[in-house]
Amino acid sequence: MRTKTVKIGDRVIGGGNPILIQSMTNTKTENVEDTVAQIQALTAAGCDIIRCAVPTLEAAKALRLIKDRIEIPLVADIHFDYKLAIAAMENGADKVRINPGNIGSEDRVRAVVDCAKERGIPLRVGVNSGSLEKDLVAKYGGVTAGGLVESALHQAAIIEDMGYDNLVISIKSSDVMMCAKAHELIAEKTDHPLHVGITEAGTLYSGNIKSAVGLGIILYQGIGDTIRVSLTGDPLEEVKSAKRILKTLGLRKGGIEVVSCPTCGRTQIDLIGLANKVETMVQDIPLDIKVAVMGCVVNGPGEAREADIGIAGGKGEGLLIKKGEIIRKMPEDQLLDALREELLNWKG
Ligand code: SF4
Repeated sequence: MRTKTVKIGDRVIGGGNPILIQSMTNTKTENVEDTVAQIQALTAAGCDIIRCAVPTLEAAKALRLIKDRIEIPLVADIHFDYKLAIAAMENGADKVRINPGNIGSEDRVRAVVDCAKERGIPLRVGVNSGSLEKDLVAKYGGVTAGGLVESALHQAAIIEDMGYDNLVISIKSSDVMMCAKAHELIAEKTDHPLHVGITEAGTLYSGNIKSAVGLGIILYQGIGDTIRVSLTGDPLEEVKSAKRILKTLGLRKGGIEVVSCPTCGRTQIDLIGLANKVETMVQDIPLDIKVAVMGCVVNGPGEAREADIGIAGGKGEGLLIKKGEIIRKMPEDQLLDALREELLNWKG
């Protein structure tokens, strides 16, 4: 879906631009050192936009110091206090996430909007299924996709009516199918860019599955301009998962894709351990190719034919394979190093 473009710091989202990955720090924003260190690690992992909670004036002021030391746009996450939204913008926030519905009187909303307008800072508004307005819950007979959409559009309209449309909209629900439905509905009704994520998705395991299914359905329909995989875990995992989801959908290029066999009764090496080591080993190698890790020398080479390069383990030894052809045989304990060597000297 074609959305309007919105500039967040030096990045542009919407209008068919690549989908950007967002994450959120879990350090205390007031602790500049820890927050900068986490943002730098996330940036190195592929995070495009970072959001920090701003619960205090001290946190708002810390944004200035943080921003000076990071390379990616910084989004301030505000709940309730309009003064913190203004302070965040005065201290360099590139975007502010705020819901007009929870910051009180019209004067306060207008003060935030005026400040954003003056500085050209986009605002992200939206709705979370857990905080859907009571009248909409009653109108729709519970929390529904339709209710979420009406709420999100209402939040956006409050700001549009104040003469500002530099907006990003988000709809968050931990119910994957409701979230997907709501995105389908809202994409037909607005051209504001959409920030997409499955909220409160859970721990690493279930959160990844729910996010992959939900984002898969939504992004596959061409909906979504920025994404966040929301996990109860290290934000680095959020970024890694988001990159994998975009790559799986063909929406982002780059990085080595590791394919590995599921193992079976023919496997005679520690293939699970080896595949995990390969996956970690390739992370810092800037190639856009497919690497196969197969469990046996009988079927492995054939099954790895679609990969650019691969290894197949036998009993105490293994094979290095290129495009299905065996190029070298070696002891099992040399497989990982040999593969790395090939990748570092890759010429295609
Ligand atoms: S590659 Fe070999 S070990 Fe792996 S699943 Fe296929 S047959 Fe089994």
